[in-house]
Amino acid sequence: MNEYLEQFESLLGYKLKLDSKGQAMAKCPFHNDKNPSLSINVNKGIWNCFAGCGGGSIYSFAKRLGKALDL
Ligand SMILES: [Zn+2]
Repeated sequence: MNEYLEQFESLLGYKLKLDSKGQAMAKCPFHNDKNPSLSINVNKGIWNCFAGCGGGSIYSFAKRLGKALDL
C-alpha cells in the first residue's frame, strides 16, 4: 500500500482511481470544482490544480486544508 495514496485519500475523504503511473484526477478542495481539475501523483506525493490553485507536495496539500499529516 502506498503511503501517499492513503494520506491523499484520507485528506480528500474518498478513494482515488489511479492510472498505471500512480496518477489520479480528483475534485480540487481549494476552489468550487465541478470537473476534476486536481492532479495527484501518489508515487511522488505531489499535487497540482489545473484551475490555478497551485501545487506542491502532500505536506503543502495537508497544510492548506488545515489538517495534520501523519507521515
Ligand atoms: Zn483548485
